[in-house]
Amino acid sequence: MKLRKAKRIVFLILFGGFAVIMIGVLIKKLDLIYLGFVIMGSSFIFDFIYSKCPYCKGYIRYVSWKHCPHCGNKLEV
Ligand SMILES: [Zn+2]
Repeated sequence: MKLRKAKRIVFLILFGGFAVIMIGVLIKKLDLIYLGFVIMGSSFIFDFIYSKCPYCKGYIRYVSWKHCPHCGNKLEV
């Protein structure tokens, strides 16, 4: 998976989780708030799994990085 696409999906999951928490707060449903946190948490796991350098498998935090900070190879985003 391309880095930019992975980061976009991470953002969508994060935003979805945040929306669920907000709805939970609005309708005062604690279960929904917990669910939102679980969704947000899973976005970090997704990020950790897919935001990787294709050469050395090092973690890439920002899509703006042009080169891998771990091995120095050029990144395809
Ligand atoms: Zn690398």
